[in-house]
Amino acid sequence: MKPSPVSPTIPLDRDGVHHGHLRLPYSRDDSAWGSVMIPICVVGNGRGPTALLTGANHGDEYEGPLALFDLARTLRADTVSGRVIIVPAMNYPAFRAGTRTSPIDRGNLNRSFPGAPDGTVTQKIADFFQRELLPGADIVLDFHSGGRTLDFVPFCAGHILADKDQERRTFAAVEAFAAPWSMKMTEIDAVGMYDTAAEEMGKVFVTTELGGGGTSRAETVRIARRGAANLLKHAGILAGEVEKAPTRWLDMPDGCFSFADEDGMIETMVDLGEAVEAGAIVARIWPTGATGRAPRDIRATIPGLLVARHFPGLVQAGDCVSVIGCPAD
Ligand code: CA
Repeated sequence: MKPSPVSPTIPLDRDGVHHGHLRLPYSRDDSAWGSVMIPICVVGNGRGPTALLTGANHGDEYEGPLALFDLARTLRADTVSGRVIIVPAMNYPAFRAGTRTSPIDRGNLNRSFPGAPDGTVTQKIADFFQRELLPGADIVLDFHSGGRTLDFVPFCAGHILADKDQERRTFAAVEAFAAPWSMKMTEIDAVGMYDTAAEEMGKVFVTTELGGGGTSRAETVRIARRGAANLLKHAGILAGEVEKAPTRWLDMPDGCFSFADEDGMIETMVDLGEAVEAGAIVARIWPTGATGRAPRDIRATIPGLLVARHFPGLVQAGDCVSVIGCPAD
């Protein structure tokens, strides 16, 4: 395969604190020989594991970038054993635009793996992570939140994996992150995800959903910062004890997702974190073309608690309306 067109402007394997960019050539109308400049920080000190920490895989999710720009500014090399690679805004064009996908090619980075060195800008970013960054990592943390269209109870998550030893190490890392909720996560469609790419390499891969609505909250940013530090302590890269906080385990059994089957105005009937029985109405979708029409009920098919909901007031057919999580303690 062709080499990646991405050039790091700093060494990725030296001791000390290095701030720089992943420079990705991008020729365009306003810059004939221009580049996308993705900020990266590498903090290395001697032998030890490598952690790869990323935010803004989706560009409209802010807890990750807020935690990681801060960590990159404050992490000292003499406190590290091993190496920490920080990319606070992975899909940088999307992050700059405040959108989930890239304004350059509409690429959804988390559906673009393994990527391609001769593909779109988004595919080139994916390819660099796939072939240059993931193989050297021992533990990977990729921050997500709901973005502009979803909102979540704050949780850290790992996937149920075929390799039970890898799964056990993943869930131990999720527990160490110490979000209020810890999720054994199921994906609607895992093809092309960064998660899947890392897991297929045998990595411990931890992700989050810490809030949403295209913004962040004080509480969720605190959870993100504590979680990143906890994960580095858990990995043995930072000294000190994990800062424990109560967490409750959830899983996402079959039937956890509900989708809208028509357009309309959504009325949330249950707030995030509230318990629901099977059959309970979690949301109603109001037709808006005329008065006198009944709303369509969206019912929970399983008991549990509301862990995610559609965020904007208007909903389209096919949108994910709600996700029910089941206590797994
Ligand atoms: Ca996301």
